[in-house]
Amino acid sequence: AGMEWTTMNVLVSGGAGYVGSHAARMLSRAGHEVWVYDNLVFGHRGAVAPGRLIEGDLLDVDRVAGVLAEKRIDAVMHFAAFAYVGESVTDPAKYYRNNIVGTLSLMDAMRRQDVRRFVFSSTCATYGEPRSVPIDESQPQAPINPYGYTKLVIERALSDYAKAYGWGYAALRYFNAAGASEDGDLGEDHDPETHLIPLVLQVAQGRREHVTIFGDDFPTPDGTCVRDYIHVDDLASAHISALEKLGPGVEFRCNLGTGRGTSVKEVVEACREVTGRPIPTVVAPRRAGDPPALVADSSLARRELGWTPRYTSIVPIVRSAWKWHESHPDG
Ligand code: UDP
Repeated sequence: AGMEWTTMNVLVSGGAGYVGSHAARMLSRAGHEVWVYDNLVFGHRGAVAPGRLIEGDLLDVDRVAGVLAEKRIDAVMHFAAFAYVGESVTDPAKYYRNNIVGTLSLMDAMRRQDVRRFVFSSTCATYGEPRSVPIDESQPQAPINPYGYTKLVIERALSDYAKAYGWGYAALRYFNAAGASEDGDLGEDHDPETHLIPLVLQVAQGRREHVTIFGDDFPTPDGTCVRDYIHVDDLASAHISALEKLGPGVEFRCNLGTGRGTSVKEVVEACREVTGRPIPTVVAPRRAGDPPALVADSSLARRELGWTPRYTSIVPIVRSAWKWHESHPDG
């Protein structure tokens, strides 16, 4: 039940961040008018097209409403969030305030200006420990950390807003975002870096001594954790497909992954192959809260969004990341 779409004016919150910057650029290449709203706490000014950045806080509802009105915004893509699982356990207040209160404030501004299309970055962390793998959308959502809860609360609110206020929304549950744009000018740069692929590539660059493998005694084929690494441009294209299909009352709740699992050891091996460098590893104890395997069944997104990921194996994903790391050694 999608509707005809034309060019839209889109506000991209968190559009100076990793996934948001890739989506903003793809949106603008698809012909949409894009404005990035970002507080630059984690975002990078240089990741936004010139003249397109509006610096501001989501908690400032008057400011956001003003931007929605001034730019005649038709739809919001919301990426701005804190996303360190470990920190969400030690400082939940920070996560509940930013990810829930901040998002509800954005949604209040949208109600004020009657903007009813919303594309939301959700996460496979809303499933918690999956009952079985691959994970499809019929599995219960039972997060095991505050980060996952903050995303689930917003999914819940969106479903209620769709019914009560006629919003159309997409809650896109990312598996492991990875890689960098092929043009080589946008990439992944978190501070602190906790994600596997950038850490392994930093070892390849000689910036770290070794890769720490968090556990090799999981019930998986090689004993290390299995994840579904999805290229950031494939995430971006799913957002655009979803946006262009949104209409009143339309609800998409979709996993975004390749459907293929890759172990930590396989990631390291792919990095050795791509970089041609030795990458020493050290096995350490498991990290708290890591499920053995998280792999998406993404057939719903393929069906409902008409989406197909272009990257389906780890080596090309790592190659895209390596190209960016080599050209931007300091992020
Ligand atoms: N991992 C690891 N060593 C590291 C960082 C991550 O072994 O230095 C593992 C981690 O246990 C997980 C996988 O790599 O199984 C991916 O972790 P990441 O933090 O990149 O993403 P997550 O799956 O936690 O969202």
